[in-house]
Amino acid sequence: MSKDYYAILGVSKNATEIEIKKAYRKLALQYHPDRNPDNKEAEEKFREVNEAYQVLSDPQKRAQFDQFGRVFDENGSSGFSGQDFGSTIFEEFFGDVFGDFFGGARGARQRKRPRKGSNIEVNVEIEFLEACFGISKKVKVPKTANCKRCDGTGAEPGGVTTCNTCHGTGQITQRQGFFTLSTTCPQCGGTGEFIKDRCKECKGEGSVREYKTLEVKIPAGIENNMTLRISGGGNDGIYGGPAGDLFVHVKVKEHEYFRREGRNIILDVPISFVDASLGTSLNIPTIDGSETIKIKPGTQPDEKIVLKGKGVPDVQGYGIGNMIINLKVVIPTKLSKKQKELLETFKKESNEDTYSSEKSLWEKMKSFFNS
Ligand SMILES: [Zn+2]
Ligand SMILES: [Zn+2]
Repeated sequence: MSKDYYAILGVSKNATEIEIKKAYRKLALQYHPDRNPDNKEAEEKFREVNEAYQVLSDPQKRAQFDQFGRVFDENGSSGFSGQDFGSTIFEEFFGDVFGDFFGGARGARQRKRPRKGSNIEVNVEIEFLEACFGISKKVKVPKTANCKRCDGTGAEPGGVTTCNTCHGTGQITQRQGFFTLSTTCPQCGGTGEFIKDRCKECKGEGSVREYKTLEVKIPAGIENNMTLRISGGGNDGIYGGPAGDLFVHVKVKEHEYFRREGRNIILDVPISFVDASLGTSLNIPTIDGSETIKIKPGTQPDEKIVLKGKGVPDVQGYGIGNMIINLKVVIPTKLSKKQKELLETFKKESNEDTYSSEKSLWEKMKSFFNS
């Protein structure tokens, strides 16, 4: 069973945006609960009118309604499951002017509505290996907290009186023809209160600055320049609102040997051209100890050895990286007489087969120079 939103607003199917807006404004004012206290029928009408406007004022929803006779929500089911969107859309539409229309109470209340505290940002520097395994760090955070003596009001106990400019409403109301216009009371800034004795502790600020030491859990696998967000770790909320968030910018120091590429640990390992030629086994450091690796005979410069699962865990928990060993073949720069002789002998003993992996390259070069 679906409703005819056009009929509810009393407009035709071809109604323009402006006609819909006009019809909505008229009906919403007529059925508003503030004007119809304890009138169930009006309440239901008001809800219907809001629902109709919500659909017809949104081109996408209106098109859906025109085509299917109903509107689908994100889950694919149809219609509105009794959610109360009436008052929010109403406030969006009419804003503060309408609040004032029914007297200043609504406006004054809004000015004291709870607000989220501000966020705090801190920088933390950790060691390379701490980033690999995760660590708990104590972080000193400058925080604005509500003053305990005055409970954030900024007044000494008993030091608050009702503002006598606005008589506690927080607003100054002026009549202008049909409408009454309200502005925030300049004396009390809209709180409706006047502080005659300022709090001795916070000097009337309502808040105090203090350093708090927080324990921040830095997850394994965090990378340089990542930021952690700790919900509720920021400054206290205002008028009972939730605390802000704490943002921890993490700097990871460089390591003498290891590098990171995402989840992988990179290590350059120098080996002599002799070891590369003959093969050997090496004991190399890993992030959690050491490991013996085999260098196979005939290892080429920049060949890599991959140690599976010896990297860093993904910071989001998706698996673990590898350790990648870059073999840097080192050519000697200082040779003794004896070493030179041995290499000369080695040279005489060498032919194309000695460098079989390069053979095709030799061949190409030869044909290039002989052509
Ligand atoms: Zn005032
Ligand atoms: Zn205080």
